Amino acid sequence: MPKYSHSKLSAYENCPQQYKLRYIDRIELPEGMEGIEAFLGSRVHEALEKLHKELILTKLNSLEELLKYYESVWDKNWNEDTIAIVKRDYTKDHYKNAGREAITNYYKRYHPFNQSKTLATEQLITFKIEDYTIQGYIDRLSHNGKGIYEIHDYKTSGYLLSQEKFDNDRQLALYQIGIKEKFKDAKDVRLIWHYLLFDKEFTSIRTDAQLKDLKKEILSLIKTIEKDTVFNPVESNLCDWCEFPEYCPARKHEIKVQELPLNKYLKEKGVSLVNKYASIKAKINELREQETELWEEIALIEDAAKTYAEKEGITNITGSDHVLKIVEKTVLQFLRSGEEGREALEKFIKKAGIWEDVSGLNLSRLSKLVKDEMFDKKTIASLLKFAEEVPDVKVKLTKKREDED
Ligand code: SF4
Repeated sequence: MPKYSHSKLSAYENCPQQYKLRYIDRIELPEGMEGIEAFLGSRVHEALEKLHKELILTKLNSLEELLKYYESVWDKNWNEDTIAIVKRDYTKDHYKNAGREAITNYYKRYHPFNQSKTLATEQLITFKIEDYTIQGYIDRLSHNGKGIYEIHDYKTSGYLLSQEKFDNDRQLALYQIGIKEKFKDAKDVRLIWHYLLFDKEFTSIRTDAQLKDLKKEILSLIKTIEKDTVFNPVESNLCDWCEFPEYCPARKHEIKVQELPLNKYLKEKGVSLVNKYASIKAKINELREQETELWEEIALIEDAAKTYAEKEGITNITGSDHVLKIVEKTVLQFLRSGEEGREALEKFIKKAGIWEDVSGLNLSRLSKLVKDEMFDKKTIASLLKFAEEVPDVKVKLTKKREDED
């Protein structure tokens, strides 16, 4: 049985194809670039891990010692060639200083760190939901001595979330399930996020009922994943950060053709298919627009022809090859939707058992059936109470010769 983690489940939710490439096909990539934000996060995590891990054995690092450690892991891991700074207005030093400040603020805020007793740092937690193993790493697990366990998560992202987001967060809630199974005295658990760049702490709690619902959601998501055979690519802004565009069916053609010289590019089979398709579609749309305009013009001419025929006292207007016939007749017009009495008409039609016959009250069909006397006399008489005869003038174009025939 494969193991699942919050990040694995999130990968599927964001893009099933990315999930497949990463966790099923296990595509191996050469060591790639890392964003400086992730680099900063790892170094700050390492510093706070050292602080709390050593506190378990009563060693309290001074702030200076901790910052020295942070500097050393930063310098040791820094690689100009593989760490990317995307935001143009910021330098390596801006990020490094942000990390220093985050650690300093954290240190000053919680010193002497006696709010709770650290039980573990970078703690692997595993538990089962039915037959499936769920696992994850808790940045820090602590206990406040009053029966309350705390799951701490360090964040170095540059934006804050709303309380609603924390109250719906899945990752720490999943860890809570694991902690409650591992520690039988864990009746109450607090989920705590430290937004280190802002010196802010956010807390949330989950009830047993919420955890029960979460287990159901996770189970249903895992079953969806295990049933999936297609793993559709879902394109989004996240594609810009995806490691697999060369393998992704939604992106690999673009990558394949983008380096081609223009003459080869335009001749490439896929490119030419798309270009042809797009140009035909554009023509169809253009023709549709023209058709709409032409129908509007036809309606104006019909009105003018009716006026002309009335004025001249004629029914046929002769052109070079065609004749326009103005045909006037009276038609039955039943009550339209929204008109007074319409509900009674619908009620009668349903009661008379002819609702299906009139295709759910298609008025033209109803008029035709009445005119063709397709119902019994009593029904027709009743139906006629809901209709009136109105004049209807139509314009019909015929060929001159046909007309003469
Ligand atoms: S490039 Fe986008 S669509 Fe393709 S696998 Fe990656 S995230 Fe999914």
